[in-house]
Amino acid sequence: MFCLIGTPVGHSGSPAMYNYSFAQTGLDYAYLAYDVPLEKTEEAVNALKVLGCKGFNVTMPCKTRVAELVDELSDAAKLIGACNTVVVKDGKLYGNNTDGMGFVRNLKENGVDVKGKKITVMGAGGAATAIQVQCALDGAKKLSIFNRKDKFYANGEKTVKKIQQMVPDCEVSIHPLEETDALYAAIKDSDILVNATKVGMKPLDDQSLVEDVSVFHPDLVVADAVYNPKETKFVQSAKAAGCKVAVGGTGMLMWQGAAAFNLFTGKDMPTKEVYELFFK
Ligand code: NAD
Repeated sequence: MFCLIGTPVGHSGSPAMYNYSFAQTGLDYAYLAYDVPLEKTEEAVNALKVLGCKGFNVTMPCKTRVAELVDELSDAAKLIGACNTVVVKDGKLYGNNTDGMGFVRNLKENGVDVKGKKITVMGAGGAATAIQVQCALDGAKKLSIFNRKDKFYANGEKTVKKIQQMVPDCEVSIHPLEETDALYAAIKDSDILVNATKVGMKPLDDQSLVEDVSVFHPDLVVADAVYNPKETKFVQSAKAAGCKVAVGGTGMLMWQGAAAFNLFTGKDMPTKEVYELFFK
């Protein structure tokens, strides 16, 4: 048995995606979703161990708590301070975070390698932190983080410190998103520009954080973490401005699931079929 924990989980597409993939791969496994509030996280994790669960995904609000409960954390999960995938082996819990892996893999599928690249990331929440950490671990040369001066800004400052300690070769800094001139200068100097804020997601789907589209240069790779809608205003305007690659968040979502499937089973998810059935 595998499962998802967190709340709400009733809307999640994960059970359908994993159960289909298990069947296609010839694995006699089942994937369920359990609604677990934050204060019940520890009890739920202990129960899953007793029940012989082989692995589980974690969604909000339990990701940070689970990172405190596992026996071992991957480098990415340690830096991010949150787990979205846990493998149970011989009674021990191994915590991972596949969000950033999904982001990097999706870019790779679009012909883009983050190694040696200058990357501007707007956002300092969960998705942004995972992207920033994985890009640093995978050899990004420079990371410029921009976030508005809200409660997430301090989290961005922490991420900068952690990356400086663990990945000293990556030049990393954070700036207020309100400093538009600094943002546009960073974009002009970047190979890759990422939106990992909630801007662009419903109900903010009529907005983009880049209002002056003249900063979208043709060599710029543009990626959004937002997958609802599939193509945000940010991605649409980058495409219209002629950016060579401009992708929405759907690919990141599928590839983080594929990375978790691989950790759970040691096998590859049938991503072509999964994409056609669940993400197109
Ligand atoms: P979060 O709540 O952890 O962080 C929210 C971020 O959005 C913060 O940086 C915050 O400052 C910023 N923000 C919110 N409103 C803003 C505004 N009006 N102007 C400027 N910035 C604003 O959320 P999260 O979990 O990081 O999710 C962010 C987005 O990424 C969501 O749309 C989510 O669905 C998406 N996401 C996608 C994937 C994927 O696999 N594609 C994975 C995780 C999250």
